[in-house]
Amino acid sequence: MSKVAVIGAGTMGNGIAHVFAMKGHEVNLIDISEKALEKAILTIAKNLDRMVKKEKITEKVKRETIEGIATFTDMKEGVKGVDLVVEAATENVDLKLKIFKSMDEFAPKKAILATNTSSISITKIAAATNRPEKVIGMHFMNPVPVMKLVEVIPGYSTSKSVTKKIIQLSKDLGKIPVEVNDFPGFAANRILVPMLNEAIITLHEGVAGVEEIDNVMKLGMGHPMGPLQLADFVGLDVCLAICRVLHEGLGNPKYAPCPLLVNMVMAGKLGKKSGEGFYKYTPGSKDLVVSSSFK
Ligand code: NAD
Repeated sequence: MSKVAVIGAGTMGNGIAHVFAMKGHEVNLIDISEKALEKAILTIAKNLDRMVKKEKITEKVKRETIEGIATFTDMKEGVKGVDLVVEAATENVDLKLKIFKSMDEFAPKKAILATNTSSISITKIAAATNRPEKVIGMHFMNPVPVMKLVEVIPGYSTSKSVTKKIIQLSKDLGKIPVEVNDFPGFAANRILVPMLNEAIITLHEGVAGVEEIDNVMKLGMGHPMGPLQLADFVGLDVCLAICRVLHEGLGNPKYAPCPLLVNMVMAGKLGKKSGEGFYKYTPGSKDLVVSSSFK
């Protein structure tokens, strides 16, 4: 794969563009929002700076990585001549089906179309295209430049050769691919998101406060980050969307999203990306401050 388009320049898209560009791939980063593209390039530069300071990469690699990323607001232009598209737009099934229809129309016929969806059926997304054998789940973890895992999820019609290529590509990116089957939430979020939702229910029912819940899981279970802080990092809208896919797809009431999660998303409290979730985030500050709603 020499030329890669990444669709969506949010939390995940900027990280995905970063890792591909750092390995020498030409990257077209596409978003409907000019502001999201600007923010993504700033985030990538900041993350590369940190790597230079830690002597993990040189200034030259940093410069070449940034230079390797072009930004687009027009998908038709952005997918021209690419070998692979990795879609990392908002977790919404109708949006993804629309994007895959357009990608199928505009991306070269030989291109593999991958999605970074956290939970939506790969088979359903693939069925929106005329090349279901070339559609696959390539699920990176957050933060992408740091986390080693890539869940690789072939859909019902994905060809074995495409799966093999994506597994090899993940290794070439310095990641560790794990192949899993196409079920709601795959493996990672089938396990993680009900745990995050349960932590929110524990807060909602008044069993314990924000810091207490996070401390229990950090100090007692050895988790590097408490579940409420992690939910803020993932994005509460993303957590809610995954809960809904699990609830609908598996038909079990135990996956129903906590009403507090639903309310927070409706109120625009999306976690780190909106500046407030269970904690309040101030640019430039690393202090963990519990949101005033929970004090
Ligand atoms: P995000 O909300 O941070 O970013 C989504 C971006 O998609 C936004 O910049 C938005 O402008 C853009 N977008 C919306 N419609 C678009 C369109 N039609 N064309 C191009 N861009 C469009 O979301 P995120 O957290 O980066 O999640 C992206 C995907 O990655 C989702 O499918 C999510 O489930 C998955 N994912 C998220 C995480 C996580 O921790 N946040 C982890 C793994 C996978």
